[in-house]
Amino acid sequence: MAIYCPACEQVHFHQFSLFELSNSPRAFHCACGFTQAHIAKHNHRYEISLLTAAGDRVRLLFPFREIWSAPLLTLYSPGEGDILGFFGDADQVEEAVADLDSDFLEPEDFFAPEVMTRILAYLQKLASNHKIGCTCSNPAVGIDVYPDKVELVCSHCGSAILMSAVSEEDVNRLLSLSELRMKPASYIYLGEWLKPIR
Ligand SMILES: [Zn+2]
Ligand SMILES: [Zn+2]
Repeated sequence: MAIYCPACEQVHFHQFSLFELSNSPRAFHCACGFTQAHIAKHNHRYEISLLTAAGDRVRLLFPFREIWSAPLLTLYSPGEGDILGFFGDADQVEEAVADLDSDFLEPEDFFAPEVMTRILAYLQKLASNHKIGCTCSNPAVGIDVYPDKVELVCSHCGSAILMSAVSEEDVNRLLSLSELRMKPASYIYLGEWLKPIR
């Protein structure tokens, strides 16, 4: 399987056997630490749960037969029809990725890859514990990753938190916070925070 990672904006490959899939969802992690997808077996179908480039969660259902017999399946987002990844025989998947627009593939060179990896991993941990959010009426917080910074944006009210991701200090500043909760329509640069927001 090859899937696009909304956190580091790269395609990541996962090699596994269909026999490894079961009723309990199996998590697939990107090299950047982000949890990209889960796959579980349900009632003669496989459910692939993954994220669009915009960070929206989508669930794709495939009949057993389709997963077991198709040399290549393309994973599309249900709404926009964007390609989220490929599933199938390893060589077919590699070929499909190579054929894609190079924009989709171009590796994003981080200024400080190790710093970025730790920052994204921590944000992912906060997100999975529901510690990232916005206090507006209809919060929809997504993450934008740039070579030198990360931005959390609420697409409903436009609030954002911008954090630099180049130095050890940037990592420590983020790690000192146990929660990132934005106020509606606010814009904050993490380096200027004196104390954690609530
Ligand atoms: Zn990633
Ligand atoms: Zn909001």
